[in-house]
Parts: sequence; C-alpha cells; structure tokens
Amino acid sequence: MSRVSLEEARALWEDASDDELKRLAQSVRARWHEPDRATYMVMRIINYTNVCVAQCDYCAFYVLPNAGGGYVLSREEVFAKIDELVELGGDLVAFNGGFNPRLPLDYYCELFGSVRERYGERVEFYALTIAEFVFLADRAGLSYADAAARLRDAGVHWVTGGGSEILTEDFRARHAKWKYTVADYFEAQKAIVESGMKTTATMVIGFDETLDERLEHLQRTRDFQDETGGLFSFLCWTYKPYGTAFGGREIAPREYWRHIALSRIFLDNIPHIRTSVLTQNEDAFRALDYGADDFDLPIEDEVTQKAGATIDLDLEGLLAIPRSLGYRVEYRRAERPAALASS
Ligand code: SF4
Repeated sequence: MSRVSLEEARALWEDASDDELKRLAQSVRARWHEPDRATYMVMRIINYTNVCVAQCDYCAFYVLPNAGGGYVLSREEVFAKIDELVELGGDLVAFNGGFNPRLPLDYYCELFGSVRERYGERVEFYALTIAEFVFLADRAGLSYADAAARLRDAGVHWVTGGGSEILTEDFRARHAKWKYTVADYFEAQKAIVESGMKTTATMVIGFDETLDERLEHLQRTRDFQDETGGLFSFLCWTYKPYGTAFGGREIAPREYWRHIALSRIFLDNIPHIRTSVLTQNEDAFRALDYGADDFDLPIEDEVTQKAGATIDLDLEGLLAIPRSLGYRVEYRRAERPAALASS
C-alpha cells in the first residue's frame, strides 16, 4: 500500500468498515513490527507542580498562582515517587506539570540533574512536554536551541510531544490561547531533535475538534517526521471531561480504535503507535488489532485522574488482556538517544 493522501484518509474515515481499517492498519504495522508482538512499559507521571497560568478550558488539574491549593513537589517527594515505581517493576518517569511562573529554568536543570545523578541509567525520564519547554524557554529569554542545550547538559534525554492535544491554530484559540502557537510548538520540537535528545508525538481526541482538525494534526505530524525523522512514537489518548470548564462527553471506544487505525495508516513514517491504557483502560488493548503496537501501564497521573481517569494497579491482570487477544507482550526499556550515547 502506498502512502495515503489527506483526501484518501478522509474517505477511509467516512466510508471504510472497521475490518477494512484494521486490515490496512495491520499491513502498515507489519512493516515495523511482528504481527503478534506488543511491547509495554510500567511508568509513572510525576506532576511536580499544579500551579499554571495557561488556563486551558479542558483542564481539571491546574490552580492559578495565589489561588490556594497550589504545590511544588520537593526533591524528596520526587525521589520517593520514583523509588515506589522501581519497587513496582517500572523504570520510566514522565515529569509533567503546569506553567508555573515561579519556577525558573535552573529549577528544572537542578531537578533533572539530581534525578540523573541518583538513578543513572536505571531509570529513564521524560523531562517535560514540548508545551512546558516552550513556556520555560520563553520565560528564560532563551532560544529553543539554547534552552534545549541546557536541559541536555543537565542529563535530560527525552522531551516528549505531550501537551499537543489538537495541533491547529483554531483549536488553540478556542481552548488554550495562552498555551503556545502551533508554529512555536514545532519550532521548539525541532530544536529538541537538533540538540540530540529524543521526542515523541501525541494527540488527544474527543473535545469538539472537527475531522478536518484531526487530519490537519496528522498531516503536520507526518510532515514534521519527514523533515526531521525525530519522532520515536505517536501516542493518542482521549479527553476526560469531568471537572473541566469545557465539559462535554467521552467518545466511544470504537471511535478511538478507528482513529488509532487511521493514524497507523497515515503516519507510515513513525515506528510506534501507542494505545492509551490511562484513558481507555481495558478497551485500550483492542487498539492493538487496529495497528497499535505499544502501551504504558501507568501507576499515577494526577492530570487525567482529576478529569476522571481511573488507574488499575493489577498489572498482571491488565497484561492478561492483550495475551487473551493473541499477543506476546514484552517489556520495553526506554532507549537512550544515540547522539548522547557517549555522554
Ligand atoms: S493542560 Fe497543562 S498548560 Fe493547560 S491549564 Fe492544565 S496544566 Fe496548565
């Protein structure tokens, strides 16, 4: 199958049966992965601060500075969370917090440097999302290249593509006008790639985005990968509406599965398509039949839990589900970027 155009993707979404989407997605998946193999990680998202000035209307997590209820985790609290993850068999931490104007770039460099010093290569960490990176580079008055170099030199290997939701300027204006512009997002992500660190692509569906907006997000992602080759994976999850200003309803699992298939077919240049156990629970595993090949088993994420996500800590019970669907599941360790291999 050759690369599908935007118009062909639109036609697939509107007209293809579930079986046809599955078949096409599995054929693209098979270029990258053994058909019956799926990989996973046990990880924890550490929400180091809930103070944020971005005020996205789909967020149930943040508090404004001085509003009361705000926190910044201490170094000891961060280490305790990582130690607990290691005891549960995990080795990946993702730091994700609000746009806290009281935390300078030095705070992040010192935090990440201390994590690298304490855990070395035993634990890998996703330092920030691109969204947070844009904010802290701008506040520091640094170019994205210089801010990326500061993080890399502090021991950071990954800055993931989180916080992207839907990457169209219209969506940003409707829901998150103080977060970043799409142009800034990709400029910052390019600087991360060029610094030698690794990054990923993400997407969240189920707000009020149109099909055109979903397709534009996929097109921009594919174009970025054609240009840079820097995206290790694409993770899509679904909006949780509870306790948010925007509200709304959750989409049905079938819509999620079909979108995963369309993403696998369209993003033919990204190695891994990841399904979201955090927001789809047991239903996430059916997405393996729709082209996904990898997933996290998260043990904590306050951001999505505040908006209604539930976390199951019976990891063996969860792994039994993809096995029952016919998949060999294997643990995957986070890779170290080749460009930083000798540092
Ligand atoms: S989604 Fe992130 S940037 Fe937006 S308000 Fe919530 S914490 Fe802040």
